[in-house]
Amino acid sequence: MTESKGMALHWKVLIALGLGVLVGVLINHFWSLDTWKSLGVGDAKAFVAFKESAANADAGVVAQTARFAGKANKFAGDFFLQCLKFIGVPVILFSLIVAVADVGDLRRFGRLGAKTVAWFMGTTIFAAVLALAIAHFAAPGTYVSAETRDALLATYQDVAAARVQSANDFREGGVWAYLLSIVPTNPFNAIANAQMIQVVAASLLLGMGLALIPREKAEPVIAFARGLNEALIALVRLIMSFAPIAVFCLICHMVAMTGVGALMSVVAFGVCVIVGLGVILFIEYPLLMLVTSRPGNRVGLRRFFRGMAPAQTLAFASSSSSATLPVTIQCVRDRLGVPHEIANFVCPLGTTINMDGTALYQVLSVLFLSQLYGVDLSLSQYATVSLLAVIVSIGSPGLPGASVVMMAIVLDAVGVPTQGVAIILAIDRVLDMARTIVNVSGDAVTAVLVANGEGTLAREEDVLEK
Ligand code: ASP
Repeated sequence: MTESKGMALHWKVLIALGLGVLVGVLINHFWSLDTWKSLGVGDAKAFVAFKESAANADAGVVAQTARFAGKANKFAGDFFLQCLKFIGVPVILFSLIVAVADVGDLRRFGRLGAKTVAWFMGTTIFAAVLALAIAHFAAPGTYVSAETRDALLATYQDVAAARVQSANDFREGGVWAYLLSIVPTNPFNAIANAQMIQVVAASLLLGMGLALIPREKAEPVIAFARGLNEALIALVRLIMSFAPIAVFCLICHMVAMTGVGALMSVVAFGVCVIVGLGVILFIEYPLLMLVTSRPGNRVGLRRFFRGMAPAQTLAFASSSSSATLPVTIQCVRDRLGVPHEIANFVCPLGTTINMDGTALYQVLSVLFLSQLYGVDLSLSQYATVSLLAVIVSIGSPGLPGASVVMMAIVLDAVGVPTQGVAIILAIDRVLDMARTIVNVSGDAVTAVLVANGEGTLAREEDVLEK
């Protein structure tokens, strides 16, 4: 992310984001089946999928060009994400090994680990409680008519059934089996299959092993991991120079395919989610960074958002905190000024277990659906929803739509019909983008809080990238 000349990267990415939304909305609004027909395409579905169809015999050069532009647009966005995913697993492995080794003594590492997990838990519980309050006072489920509810159920029931099945598969093993599966029996298997939480566990264990043996024996391995870690971060900087184009393509495709119409049917729920995420992002996080700051070295709103903009916009465009991880680490280290050993440790761990946006979303969704279905929840059921939301947010992978898969577990626990997932699906894509920003930001904030506690946060004038 060299920003020596011209406009800063975060501005370019933000402009690309705005343009992507605009073009996406225009395409969604003006390009319909009739447009394809007027271009000689009778079966648009087959045409865009490159399938033979007699109905498309008259498709002319304009139709072919439109199809090519659509494909190229999707390819560019996917290619960019693929490059970041390529970095995701090795960056967790090497950054965590280096982080543990850099901390050096295991007692200090234990202290840092405990502080990190305490912040993770504290902020996630706050998100769940905030959602309870919003759902209770705003009662978004009371604004949707029974007709709208039934129409949405009918539209999304097939997709919803598949999600509920995935949740059942997950639940079958139960919490104990999940906890057991965190430690991989074969670390190479975990790496090969990109099992993020297992890669985290394997890297931490390896790092601890290295801290336990004499330094001269550990040093070659640490130097190897450090070199590769730096190389990966250098690659992130390179890849990020293409971020404006990629963000445009990703967001344009998403908006063009989804539109904003679905949003309107459950708008009260959407507003509640956005307000909740806004409170976390603009009030809770800045306050936490303020009260823990050292004199003269504060991460205020401007410093935070300027530093994190590349990661936040990417989180928004990709809806995946895992895909965003390499950029998160780079922003936290080089743009916010968190020391390497803390950024390398907190970010990969946070991506796998710290999801404040997801916890808020789970609670709000379940209470929204309970109101919609007229299921009265007792006080202890409220507590169950919050507790499960926290657990589910820890277990959710940082992938698009992960929340919806896990939601069925919480719904089932308090007797709200699981097919209600279909209603959430109507609006999930947009809200996924928003909550992923909070998930990613929460990891960065925790890194700042831990660095504040240690007194090791760089001053703003000393950060690598401004
Ligand atoms: N998409 C979210 C993330 O990657 C997870 C979720 O669906 O809540 O952080």
